[in-house]
Amino acid sequence: MNILITGATGFIGRHLVQRLQQDQHTITVLSRNSSKASELLNVPALEWDYATQDVPAEALHGCQIIINLMGENLGEGRWAKARKHEIYASRILSTRKLVAAAPDSLQAFVCGSAIGIYPGTGDDLYDESYAVPEQLSFMQTICHDWEQEAARIESKGVRRVSIRTGVVLGHGGMLKKLLPVFKLGLGGPVGNGQQWLPWIHLEDIVSVYCNAALDTRYRGPVNAVSPHPVRYREFATAFGNVLHRPAFFPTPAFILKLALGEAAALALNSYHIAPKRLLGEYGFQFKFDHLPAALADLFNHH
Ligand code: NDP
Repeated sequence: MNILITGATGFIGRHLVQRLQQDQHTITVLSRNSSKASELLNVPALEWDYATQDVPAEALHGCQIIINLMGENLGEGRWAKARKHEIYASRILSTRKLVAAAPDSLQAFVCGSAIGIYPGTGDDLYDESYAVPEQLSFMQTICHDWEQEAARIESKGVRRVSIRTGVVLGHGGMLKKLLPVFKLGLGGPVGNGQQWLPWIHLEDIVSVYCNAALDTRYRGPVNAVSPHPVRYREFATAFGNVLHRPAFFPTPAFILKLALGEAAALALNSYHIAPKRLLGEYGFQFKFDHLPAALADLFNHH
């Protein structure tokens, strides 16, 4: 298949490109820095500044699948006004332009989304049937609008999937930030530690994206989280265990809020999410469905 990927240089994208290359697909990527991207990924890359340009026409010629992962990272510090705008526009505006430029050859549009579409409070278990209310938090707004923009492609007869991704565990993302702290033995629960952490191993999220791109049964919003979520306190203990470090050093919620402002929600919100469609409709087989095995795979040899 001819596959166009945005955000391909990121934590998930890099591994996804590798997997799709192994499976003999023809990959093109769009990047803010095409020479860096093609050197990193060893695939053709085209330069695209979503804010000032339309999607380059060469990128779309004969394209059968678009996988759209690009977006300003949410976890890199405080959400000042300009960053909030960039977090939003780099997802919503870019998706709008990709959808508008979709060629006739396009069969599927697979787009990022996140568990941040759910309310982020309490213990209630949510699945894809959740009806998004009118009053939304910042994170819900991003995910909701991102999905709405992607869904517009359906009016062109193109299959659309939005991957509501949980916290991806691998050598990048959240764990990369936590690793130095936990290695020092200073890790532990944040807030009261009771919040639910909807995790997924990197290998599994890559498989979800591949399946969503190639299996025509996948359609609409899909929760990508392991079937066994844990509370943050349990995660901290398991991470400490695999690193052979104590992990009972708590970070109070107010410290995190002082340091990160609104972005503290990323660590303090509680997301109890079920991968209902992956398991029930698509029979997805998780390689890692329990946290200790996922962490052992990532850190036992390091
Ligand atoms: P990364 O932050 O690692 O990479 C995203 C890519 O998007 C970058 O490599 C970059 O590509 C491009 N990008 C970054 N900032 C901007 C910007 N301001 N404007 C345009 N392009 C930009 O993301 P991940 O791989 O971790 O995640 C992929 C998608 O999945 C993201 O949209 C993310 O929100 C979502 N997601 C990820 C989760 C996770 O745990 N990792 C959890 C939930 C959702 P380049 O430099 O080549 O242009």
